Amino acid sequence: MTDSKPKAVIFDLGKVLLDFDYGIAIRRLAPKVQIPTDHIHTLVNQSGLLHDYESGAIDTDQFFARVQAASGYRGTLDEFAAAFADIFVAIEPMIALHAQLRRLGIPTYILSNTNELAIRHVICHYPFFSQFDGYVLSYEHRVMKPAPEIYAIAEALAGHRGPDLLYLDDWPENVEAARCRGWRAVLHRSPEQSRAAVAAAGLLDADAAL
Ligand SMILES: [Mg+2]
Repeated sequence: MTDSKPKAVIFDLGKVLLDFDYGIAIRRLAPKVQIPTDHIHTLVNQSGLLHDYESGAIDTDQFFARVQAASGYRGTLDEFAAAFADIFVAIEPMIALHAQLRRLGIPTYILSNTNELAIRHVICHYPFFSQFDGYVLSYEHRVMKPAPEIYAIAEALAGHRGPDLLYLDDWPENVEAARCRGWRAVLHRSPEQSRAAVAAAGLLDADAAL
């Protein structure tokens, strides 16, 4: 048990603040491609293509061109973007937890493996996303979790390191990498458990006293 509270809280985005389902995108794309539905799923979610996109190795135009070449997709980039990115559902208790931390004056950050089309959509549709102090997005830095470099970028952005950072992520590998740097990292399994972990770190005390 440490006696000092974390100075900042860093959130993963996918499956922590926003749930997502690529199946939604697959069903929307299906009428405009020339390959079977399960092949679309493999193409946009399980192939190296999405990794190349989210690691910044290719940009949005290149990603779209590769999807077109592999699937025969017959829509515009705007149509593709709408189908590909509108796959999120807000996890309201976690968004409320973030809002509570903001009210308490605790700096918050996003650390996400993601892509430009997803972030464009999230900015337009989820007002909470603008309320962080900073963002570390894999495609902008050309590095993905759990590589140490992206955690170092987050430390530099937050101006804190080690146990001064509390981190919430749903992927065990990403949590382990954060713990290796000395961060207080929580494997997000449910809003209730993550809220309890944030409270146990002492960060919600002031709100409870209101
Ligand atoms: Mg996640």
